[in-house]
Amino acid sequence: MKSLGGAVPAKHVSDGAIAPSSPALAPPQHIRMISEGSFYCDRGLPHQETVSHECLMLCSGGLVMGTGIESSSNIYGLFQHICVAFELVLADGSLVRCTEKENSDLFYAVPWSCGTLGFLVAAEIRIIPARKWVKLRYESIRGLDAICKKFAEESANKENQFVEGLQYSRDEAVIMTGTMTDHAEPDKTNCIGYYYKPWFFRHVEGFLKLNRVAVEYIPLRHYYHRHTRSIFWELQVHYSGKFHSTAQLPNYLLIFFIFCLFVF
Ligand SMILES: Cc1cc2nc3c(=O)[nH]c(=O)nc-3n(C[C@H](O)[C@H](O)[C@H](O)COP(=O)(O)OP(=O)(O)OC[C@H]3O[C@@H](n4cnc5c(N)ncnc54)[C@H](O)[C@@H]3O)c2cc1C
Repeated sequence: MKSLGGAVPAKHVSDGAIAPSSPALAPPQHIRMISEGSFYCDRGLPHQETVSHECLMLCSGGLVMGTGIESSSNIYGLFQHICVAFELVLADGSLVRCTEKENSDLFYAVPWSCGTLGFLVAAEIRIIPARKWVKLRYESIRGLDAICKKFAEESANKENQFVEGLQYSRDEAVIMTGTMTDHAEPDKTNCIGYYYKPWFFRHVEGFLKLNRVAVEYIPLRHYYHRHTRSIFWELQVHYSGKFHSTAQLPNYLLIFFIFCLFVF
């Protein structure tokens, strides 16, 4: 199974800044952030990164120094492309700021450098206004060619603020497209992040089995954290498929408690 972030390169304008191609999207502003892993919407702020960490354990330093492609990358590019300035502590202890025009050789060398050039202590990134909900459309697709075609089409459609595909076998996938909104249809809301909800990739698999198009409204924060609880599908791998949801945690704790009573 593979998670596919939006893969179409962002459009570049002459000054090197990345321009949103859709008139529906407000022009990004900049904000300076320290290297950390939380989202702006986690803190109730009215803005969010144009490309956000879509799993809680990722940090800005890792996404800049390693790489980060997320489900809004079809519009904005990689995480490093939304950065307009870096601040690094170099090996000699000096603090250096670099941008496209200031220490530009360092600025362009930082992405992919995996910490070899210095320690990243801050980055200035592009932000856009946050909305309350993500209207997410799920479509199950069968056949590898059809999956690739659909994913390319949806990534090229700049009305889609988010594009993601989850592939369950060579020929079975669910392609998801999303847009942010402040208004939700009440009967279609789903707070997928609550502990008793199924892991996101299992939830999406349900649409594959139902074989139909569906729409849900997901709180923005829940959307960005959708892979956090299950670390994509890694927890299932570690638990050999016997632990499908954190809703089962009380059962495991109860078994552990009973075991302790008998043993001790
Ligand atoms: C389950 C899973 C799913 C993934 N899915 C995706 C995905 O969908 N899209 C995607 O693009 N990537 C994905 N990745 C890869 C991940 O985004 C990259 O490996 C990213 O670099 C990891 O970020 P991190 O915050 O964990 O950084 P780390 O792994 O901690 O660091 C990455 C590199 O950056 C360096 N570094 C980190 N912080 C700093 C700093 N402040 N200053 C200097 N150097 C620093 C580290 O030394 C290291 O070399 C996935 C990884 C996993 C494990």
